[in-house]
Order: sequence, then C-alpha cells, then structure tokens
Amino acid sequence: MKLERSRGLFREAQRYLPGGVDSPVRAFKAVGGTPPFIVRGQGSKVYDADGNEYIDYVCSWGPLILGHAHPQVVDALKKAIECGTSFGAPTELEITLAKMICSAIPSIEMVRFVNSGTEATMSALRLARAFTGRDKIIKFAGGYHGHADGLLVKGGSGLATLGLPNSPGVPTNYAHSTLVAPYNNAKAVAQLFQRYPNDIAAVIVEPVAANMGVVSPQPGFLESLRGLTSRFGALLIFDEVITGFRVTYGGAQNLFKITPDLTCLGKIIGGGLPVGAYGGKQEIMEMVAPNGPVYQAGTLSGNPLAMTAGIETLKILSQPEVYERLEDAASRLEEGIVKAVFSPKLKLTVSRFASLLTIFFSGNPALDYESVSHAETALFGRFFQQLLSEGVYWSPSQFEAAFVSLAHSTDDIRLTVGTISKVLSHVERQSFEGLA
Ligand SMILES: *Cc1c(COP(=O)(O)O)cnc(C)c1O
Repeated sequence: MKLERSRGLFREAQRYLPGGVDSPVRAFKAVGGTPPFIVRGQGSKVYDADGNEYIDYVCSWGPLILGHAHPQVVDALKKAIECGTSFGAPTELEITLAKMICSAIPSIEMVRFVNSGTEATMSALRLARAFTGRDKIIKFAGGYHGHADGLLVKGGSGLATLGLPNSPGVPTNYAHSTLVAPYNNAKAVAQLFQRYPNDIAAVIVEPVAANMGVVSPQPGFLESLRGLTSRFGALLIFDEVITGFRVTYGGAQNLFKITPDLTCLGKIIGGGLPVGAYGGKQEIMEMVAPNGPVYQAGTLSGNPLAMTAGIETLKILSQPEVYERLEDAASRLEEGIVKAVFSPKLKLTVSRFASLLTIFFSGNPALDYESVSHAETALFGRFFQQLLSEGVYWSPSQFEAAFVSLAHSTDDIRLTVGTISKVLSHVERQSFEGLA
C-alpha cells in the first residue's frame, strides 16, 4: 500500500501541530507507522491522500453511527449553512434536539448543550458539587471522561484510593479530590463511601466502559452504584458520551433500567459535528446559570449546524429495527473473529457490547483496567498494521473500541472477517517465530 503523500503530510504536520495531530491517538503512537491523512468519507469507507480505500471502524470514534456523509444529514446541513453558522442567540433547533433527548431519556428533564464531551463531564461535576455542597468525586480506573483536570487522574496502589495526577499540569491537591476505584468493583466504592460518608458529591461512570477497550458492567454493578449514591446523598452521573444512542435509542440507562441523576452526552447527538450535553432532573438543572448560581457558558454552544446534524441523526436512529440491524452486523463481526482464532497459541478475547467491540490480545476476561492492561500491545500493533495495509481501518490502539455503523453492509462485514482471519494467522505465525 502506498502512503507517500500521507508520509509527507505527517512530516509537515509535525512541524506545526504537536505530534502532527489535534488528538493524541490519531498519531498512531500505540501501533507505530504513518497515519493515513483522510480526504473523504462515504458510508462505511474512508479514502486517504494516496487514494487508498479503507473500511472504517473508527467512525470518528463513535459519532458516525450512520456512517460518513449520510445524505439526509448532508442535505439538512447544506440548508442550515445557507442560513448562517452561529448566532450567539437562541434558536428553535435547540428546543427540537432537547425535546428529542428528553423524550428518549426520561431521566433527563432538562439539558444544556456544550461543545464537547469534556465540557459536558466537567460541567456536570461542577453542578453535582454545587448541588450537594461536597467536593470529592469517585471515578473508575480506565474510565475516560474527557481531559478536565480532576478527571485526568489514576489510582494509587490500593484498591480504592485518592487520585494521583495522570498528566503533568494537574495539581496534586486537585487530583486528591478524585477518588479512584476499579471498574465492576462495588465493594471498593462502598469502602470509599464508608471512609468519606459526607464528602462525596458524585460517582461518574461509563455504564459500558469503552475507553479501556470495551468492558461490560457485571450484573449488579450499576445497581450497586445507584444504591450507594442514593444512600449517601451523592449523585450518580452516567457518562453516556459513547453509549448514548449507541447501545440502544436513548442509551445504556434505558437498557439497564437504571435512573442516574445526571447524564453526559456527546458524539452521536452531534452527528459528526462538535457537541456535548449534560442533563438530568429539573431540580438539579435549574441550578445552572442563568436560573441558578452555577456558572457555565459557551460562545458556540447549541450551534445550529451541530443541532441540525444531531436532529437528523436521531430521526434516523428512532426508526424501527435500527438497533437490531446494528446488533446483527456487530454480532456477525464478533462471531467471524471468534471463529478465525483457530489455535489456542494466540490468546484473544473478543469483548463486545452492542456495536462496540474490542479484540484484546489477552486470554483474560475483560473486567476492569487491571485485567485488560496485560494485553499484548506489540501483537496488537502488528495486527493493526497488517489490517490497515489490507484496507481495514481498525482503532489504532489496543485500549479502544471499534465502532460498527449502519453503513457497514453484509459485504463489508464479510470482507472484514476474511481480512481479520488472514491477518490473525500471519500474526500468530510471526508470534511463533518470535518465540522460537
Ligand atoms: C469521547 C468521550 C468523552 C470526551 O468527549 P470529547 O468530545 O472528546 O471531549 C467523554 N466521555 C466519554 C465516555 C467519551 O467516550
């Protein structure tokens, strides 16, 4: 596969942009090689600057559940853009999308639109702290909620610990107000509540973890979080930036029948344009400015183009059998991969929830960050590179999800399974030779 032009662009990009990118994973540090520079996307495919075509399983990291450049979304955007791109004044589009979200997710009675998932979680936590009058929060190791300071923390050496900065620039004192527990471990959360019964404002959780690779919640885990937060007067925040309108219409809370106090959204609700949102009970949301004292604002928040793309995307997702089609495609992909692993020498775990899927190069069941962190990243890197050169654009990190969209056809899935089978047998042979 030719990547001459992408190589040149990557060199030039690195002169002007740190790492040549605007978000780290795009630089392929975890897998090596040159990231293809994308010039166009259509349906399930993306095309790079050298004219290579790929079946895309990144789908902009989740927003493009309809695939690239869906005609209905593009047509609506063309009309919207003719009317201007931003007003800094209210529009009816914001009501339309807010109504769609509130009726799809009953725990959301009111919603505030922002510009990214990071802004949504950061603002939801500020609101939770204001509402409870408490400072500490609990997050889970391996859970990602954007890059706000208090969320860029890792656990210490114990089971349930004070957070430590996970990036230079995060003040240690601030990181300490984030407590960290292992995912799927309600006991550790209970321990933290016993230690700080009156100090914890909120527990923030991805109801299906998808940022350490896909890790599903064990039965009872989310229920326990609901029970503990209610008992100790803390808020339960579901970060559904990925799972919202992905695992079903609405989101994971509809599937698991758990009512969080606040929900963070992003990705799909912007249909590929920059967006985020947080919402919940009216009583809590009324505390947000201008009705209440909790300040939060945004020049481009509720942007008419983002609202338009979100509205059209949700319209299509609310049609019958959409999620059955996604489930069908994703389960065929999973089954195909599982069948392709014909030798027990290569230890693989395929972890799937709805249309989110990770192939862990590890025999461990995916339960929490500790259990997935031992995956063989070097093998994954080889797998990824070979897939890419065969025209399948998989997520360029062992600890990310692949995203199946409605644009992935039966043929796309069949081709992908064939390619993965072929690549896995290569990787397996190479790993033998490496061991010999
Ligand atoms: C992507 C993501 C975020 C951050 O959203 P951005 O729009 O990238 O800031 C937050 N939480 C979860 C669960 C995410 O997957």
